[in-house]
Amino acid sequence: MSETTHKHSAKTILKDLLEGNVRYAGKHSKEYENLKAKQTPKVTLLTCSDSRIPQNLFDIDCPNELFMVRNIGNQFRNSEGSIKYPLLHLNTPILIVMGHTGCGAIKASLSDYRGEDDTIQKEVIGLVNSIRLANQTRNAAAIPDEGQRLAIYAQVNVDHQINKIINEFNIKTKIDSGDLFVVGMMFDIHGVYGENSSHVYVTNINGATDVKALKAHDLAVEISLELSGMKFKRL
Ligand SMILES: [Zn+2]
Repeated sequence: MSETTHKHSAKTILKDLLEGNVRYAGKHSKEYENLKAKQTPKVTLLTCSDSRIPQNLFDIDCPNELFMVRNIGNQFRNSEGSIKYPLLHLNTPILIVMGHTGCGAIKASLSDYRGEDDTIQKEVIGLVNSIRLANQTRNAAAIPDEGQRLAIYAQVNVDHQINKIINEFNIKTKIDSGDLFVVGMMFDIHGVYGENSSHVYVTNINGATDVKALKAHDLAVEISLELSGMKFKRL
């Protein structure tokens, strides 16, 4: 894209954004009457910044539902305060850690990133531990299909992030008392989990990763057999 086209497209993009917001405000401004004093989100969601993970993936089109924390590679250490704030002060009963297939941050951590800008290096380097873990426990490096391989790395990264979160003292007491559940999910852009693109799958609850155990978990019992069969899945 030439510089002129780029400038032109930026103008169009800004125009579209502002017009879009006028439509949003038309639909939702009344809802903010009850939200002026405080927010009461139901879920804290830590996910990757990747734009293919949309805001409304749970088909929620209203404010005050999700406290979203996003960074590249959905990493706890890179946004600790932003994650702890809603857990400790807004008391969301669920924290979702969501990875996704084809994650660019995972790809970067597998490559030689020494030439990258140092701020990007700093945020990618934390993923190296997840990569090592996936290679040790799943022999991920030997998986021939790139889509599957990257998905396994991302799935193990979610497990690794959850284990780190659980071991944080402040949060651990809430998990132990049942006031907080940490749910691992994968957003499937590439259809590698067996359904069409854009489905999410539950891959972890409070550190448990056995699919049978996930389906039998307290959190899952109200979920229909059909849905749990489809949605509780691991690679
Ligand atoms: Zn990503």
